[in-house]
Amino acid sequence: MQVGIVGGGCVGLTVAGDLAERGVDVTLYERGDVGSGASGRAAGICYDAFADPTDAAVARRALDRYREWDLLTPRPYVWVARGDEDARAVREQVTEMRALGLDVESIAPERLGGRYPAVETRELTACAMANDAGTVTPTAVVERLAERARAAGATVRTGSAVSLAGPTALQTADGESAFDAVVVAAGPATGSLVADVGVALALETYRAQVLVTDPVNVSLPSLYDASGEFYWRPWAGAILVGDGAHAVDPENCDPAADSEFVESALERFRAATALSPAVARSWAGPCTATPDRDPLVGRVAEGCWVATGWQGHGLMRAPAIGEWLAERISGAATTVDAPLAEQFDPTRFDGDETFHPLGDPTAEW
Ligand SMILES: Cc1cc2nc3c(=O)[nH]c(=O)nc-3n(C[C@H](O)[C@H](O)[C@H](O)COP(=O)(O)OP(=O)(O)OC[C@H]3O[C@@H](n4cnc5c(N)ncnc54)[C@H](O)[C@@H]3O)c2cc1C
Repeated sequence: MQVGIVGGGCVGLTVAGDLAERGVDVTLYERGDVGSGASGRAAGICYDAFADPTDAAVARRALDRYREWDLLTPRPYVWVARGDEDARAVREQVTEMRALGLDVESIAPERLGGRYPAVETRELTACAMANDAGTVTPTAVVERLAERARAAGATVRTGSAVSLAGPTALQTADGESAFDAVVVAAGPATGSLVADVGVALALETYRAQVLVTDPVNVSLPSLYDASGEFYWRPWAGAILVGDGAHAVDPENCDPAADSEFVESALERFRAATALSPAVARSWAGPCTATPDRDPLVGRVAEGCWVATGWQGHGLMRAPAIGEWLAERISGAATTVDAPLAEQFDPTRFDGDETFHPLGDPTAEW
């Protein structure tokens, strides 16, 4: 079996490795360097704190594989609320997650402060902690996945922009190549690539931004502030602070962070901790969105598969979703036991839906 893959991010590279390990003849085409899309620009937060059973099953498997590959640094993931309504939502999420058997707990703000004294807890109305969580270094993940795919026999061609000449044919710089199957895991470009073979995807793009501070000498968990709408994680002795998301044209995603984002994220971080570090660097990257916030993963035409629409959670899911796709394409039994095929079916939408990638078009992030 010969499979062509478009996109050398964490998803395309995982599919490539898993197919090649099953003896499939794989060629992956990446228009830039591996990881030059969203994957190499991610924050690298991974957790299983999902209230939906399919999401939780995918996350569990992905975390297991990151551990197996020695890429995951264990680190709790905390999410906090400030108002009453957000606090109620956090408590409900914990109940739902615990019902799924996840190692998630509500934790009193004072207890969180006791464990992490640098976290300012006075205004917090609810806190939850997912213990089965960690962080990865996105560039290390991508390099390792590329190495793994190549070691298993896949050909990874960088600097190779391709288009679809048919559902299972790619137009490359060397001419047209026919495959038994094609996987398009090209991030925001997935929509326009499959449009060339008559497939319409309900896919939008937004831009997410992060900054990294100067080194700080404190212990912190990864944390998402649901009311302040920002997050942070420890990052190589410093702290990465993220969000600043807004809708963007997929072909026009400025990779440099906006100064307004840097200023406002730093201000929110300083108010939420006892720390006031300076900013060392910052950047932005593209994220994909769907009308129901579930990804688009599966077959869109005979032999033609897509994987996109991660809503900012693609890195933490790639090891499981990539494996699932490789299993489906090669006809093997699937490892993740969840109704993924139905729930993430890319044809569940007509493709002409109009929606805002961040849900609320008036939201300022
Ligand atoms: C700032 C930021 C922070 C994030 N933080 C997290 C996080 O903490 N945890 C998490 O799970 N997720 C996070 N994400 C989301 C995550 O990065 C993405 O969901 C994930 O990387 C998507 O992987 P992918 O392989 O689908 O796409 P990408 O990594 O975007 O890869 C697609 C590749 O396709 C290539 N391509 C496009 N068109 C063509 C073509 N015509 N021919 C050949 N190649 C082509 C691109 O160059 C690109 O390299 C974050 C994203 C951003 C931007």
